[in-house]
Amino acid sequence: MQLVILAGGKGTRLGLTDIPKPMCPIEGIPQLERQILLAKKYGIEEIFLLEGYLAHVISDYFGNGERFGVKIHHIVEQAPLGTAGALSLIKDKLTNRFMVFYGDVVMDFDIESMQKFDEQEPSVGTLLIHPNNHPYDSDLLEVKDDKIIAFHTKPHDSQKNYHNLVNAAVYILSPEIFEFIENGKQQDFGKDIFPKVLQSGKILRGYKSAEYIKDMGTKDRLPKICEDVAKGRVKRLNKKNPRPAIFLDRDGVLIKDMDKNPVVENFELLEDVEDAIKKINQSGYLAIVVTNQPMIAKGFVTFSDVDDVHKKLETQLGKSGAYLDDIYFCPHHPDKGYEGEIPELKIVCDCRKPKPGMLLKAAQDYHIDLEKSWMIGDRETDIKAGRAAGCKTILVGDMQSSEKANYQYKNLSAAVNYILEQQK
Ligand SMILES: [Zn+2]
Repeated sequence: MQLVILAGGKGTRLGLTDIPKPMCPIEGIPQLERQILLAKKYGIEEIFLLEGYLAHVISDYFGNGERFGVKIHHIVEQAPLGTAGALSLIKDKLTNRFMVFYGDVVMDFDIESMQKFDEQEPSVGTLLIHPNNHPYDSDLLEVKDDKIIAFHTKPHDSQKNYHNLVNAAVYILSPEIFEFIENGKQQDFGKDIFPKVLQSGKILRGYKSAEYIKDMGTKDRLPKICEDVAKGRVKRLNKKNPRPAIFLDRDGVLIKDMDKNPVVENFELLEDVEDAIKKINQSGYLAIVVTNQPMIAKGFVTFSDVDDVHKKLETQLGKSGAYLDDIYFCPHHPDKGYEGEIPELKIVCDCRKPKPGMLLKAAQDYHIDLEKSWMIGDRETDIKAGRAAGCKTILVGDMQSSEKANYQYKNLSAAVNYILEQQK
């Protein structure tokens, strides 16, 4: 696969004056070199660098790429063309699916896993997407069955709730994308091109990742990123390495139990949940919700009602800088014969807790080390599911359970504090 790196950025916000942004050293190695080495590790050997500002600094350093074991082409844009416009300069050279990086994104991710996902179904492109800790001022997108169905650019309507999913600026694109890019005109992927692809009815897919992928950002944020690189945090989060998770039941753990009417109007976040999730986010554990929503099968609520609750949950958490890595829910229920039920959902499934199906699916999707993971819930079914998946378990609340959880705490915050204390 060929790789294009957009390397035309100025380093003004980083206080750089004599080098372009992608040449900013991180732990002594230019950021761009780190990206090239990552690509090389996954067998990418032909790289196009789209340069602008202080282009000679980049070409002097990398030359034809021989020193790095790759073939590098330098393309210099005369005037800034935006992220997509610049690509039109080399459209004749990109004849197969190719990958795009933004030169100012610090990352380490499993390129092979993304390629496999990309190959599953035809599309104009696959975008790597993830939640972040400031969704309120990020461009967000919406995904259904792995397909991107909407882009919500900022500023957001404060009355509305959104899923916390952000374009991480890593793409695999088909040459078909050039049908949507005009030659020599300033255009951006996020603002101009991807929305156009959706409008045309063609398909863009979203590949979810919990790996470390962060814009170098500003002078204030850079030291934190350098520290993450130095401490091995960036490499460690690559999906090739197994990771522990904290699985969370939803009702009674994160939000107030809504009993028979789980709709967004009855949504209420429980105390200290934002802080607890934020601590999980900073710990290296994944935060993954696994919840039974049998009211869908029973016909009391729709998929869209449940989705509204999840949007609200993600929006509320996002305001405090907390995020969930993913939410898995089971819409099924086994007992047939009720008025208004959805027959095809009235089945004995593998995902309804106490079965461990949702945890096992998440483990597959995110390469989770189940033995090092925890399930936190307020019911016996949670404890059984956690144990069946091979996780340690914590029961929260005052319920007496015949199924012995490993520990019991009064709420999520206390449970998370215990786990993170153990981790130390
Ligand atoms: Zn199910």
